[in-house]
Amino acid sequence: MAVWFDPAEILVGGAWRRTAATLPAEDPSTGRVAAAIARGGPADIDTAVAAAGAALEGPWGRMAPSERGRLLARLGRLVEERAETLARIEAGDVGKPLTQARADAWALARYLEFYGGAADKVTGETIPYLHGYTVFTLREPHGVTGHIVPWNYPMQIIGRSVGAALAMGNACVLKPAEQASLSALAFARLACEAGLPAGALNVVPGLGAEAGAALAGHPAVRHLSFTGSVATGRSVQAAAAANVVPVTLELGGKSPQLVFADADLDAAMPFLVAPGIQNAGQTCSAASRILVERAVYPEVVARMAAVYAGLVAGPALDDRDLGPLISAAQKARVGRHLEAAQGLPVAARGRIAADAPAAGHYVAPLLLADVPPGHVLAQEEIFGPVQVVIPFATEAEAVAVANGTPYGLVASVWTRDGARQLRLARALRAGQVFLNTYGAGGGVELPFGGVGQSGHGREKGFEALFGFSTLKTVAARHG
Ligand code: NAD
Repeated sequence: MAVWFDPAEILVGGAWRRTAATLPAEDPSTGRVAAAIARGGPADIDTAVAAAGAALEGPWGRMAPSERGRLLARLGRLVEERAETLARIEAGDVGKPLTQARADAWALARYLEFYGGAADKVTGETIPYLHGYTVFTLREPHGVTGHIVPWNYPMQIIGRSVGAALAMGNACVLKPAEQASLSALAFARLACEAGLPAGALNVVPGLGAEAGAALAGHPAVRHLSFTGSVATGRSVQAAAAANVVPVTLELGGKSPQLVFADADLDAAMPFLVAPGIQNAGQTCSAASRILVERAVYPEVVARMAAVYAGLVAGPALDDRDLGPLISAAQKARVGRHLEAAQGLPVAARGRIAADAPAAGHYVAPLLLADVPPGHVLAQEEIFGPVQVVIPFATEAEAVAVANGTPYGLVASVWTRDGARQLRLARALRAGQVFLNTYGAGGGVELPFGGVGQSGHGREKGFEALFGFSTLKTVAARHG
């Protein structure tokens, strides 16, 4: 993967500098170390938080919302111009097929365009109150915001969280994942090129236990946005609680698609497999459970199996159906899950391309049928290219199974029955419900986030701007 910058540098207060130590950036398609990235530590986080605080006292803090918006839009255009370069960096770093990496670069540009346009459109209100009073509300930035990002969709998650936070006038400290930091560093270079004032965006890669924990627990950080595992989310929330700081958690899911016998199956088929194996299944909103009414169960399983039989995993730049997993550790984690698949009917298996490098972290996609709803593979997030198919007899059973995991991120319903569509939109426990479609998170305009173990708070859409700001009520008694 060719980078045009020094990945061993961090951006703090508008200046690039090297850290004392580095971490290897591995190309998951080949298993080879492709670059050395900065390994920021608590001291680097400390200076980054201080630089963000200083930016709020300087030109960034005084900038008109419309000007912030124009800066974000300019940054979005730079991302668009360099989209192919960014996509190639991301494909090499994350192992995702080039087409999917291109979609991520485009989404990053789109987030910046969207939040750039929204920056001067968030208003307060006047509130009717007692005689002789005028009361109004102000939307203000939190201050310094911390952004802890995972390795599966770095560009998209940076776009949705940093984009919205900057639009509201916060100053950000971004800690990308140690497995995939390159696109965050490339993004930071473009932010400097766009003219973002020093300290408005600070980027410090590093290990979770070092830079991540330091950011989560920093007393001067006034809001935290975290995407990743439930276990780490708990520790980030605990650190935030110690400082009484609001936190947005996006922790993953076990998202179901419900296919009823009256559904238009031709319309449904393209949506059943693709969001399950996208990014090799390493997607928080992966459609990992497919629930099918018994009358059409054999047909749906057969049609999905036919798709799986043609799926090929290969190097990211070969742009096959799916790439490798992010790391040997993730492959081992998925492997441990798959040990539990013994005894379950394998409906179909895809394959690994014959020329895929042996040291890459490939897993052949797997479709499992007749999986009992309580089975560990129907309950736990696998984060690999595995979907389970579960039959159901009635609408009530379908809802009970769909809601029967600790998660609640995304769900979809395939049916021609309009009343059922609306009934289930209400009954399903999820942050997003799709009717006769499935979007793994949907477009940038759609608020996104979970309930239960999927987390809390909303990012994306206009809604995110409320999370990345705080409301002040001003009451004036003037007689
Ligand atoms: P993780 O939660 O450990 O890492 C996510 C981010 O948190 C990274 O930037 C990491 O450096 C940081 N981090 C780790 N420990 C931290 C700490 N103590 N304090 C602050 N920040 C910390 O995720 P992982 O170990 O890379 O992946 C494990 C599992 O997490 C996966 O198998 C998957 O199930 C889940 N996951 C979910 C998502 C999602 O989008 N919901 C993304 C990545 C991983």
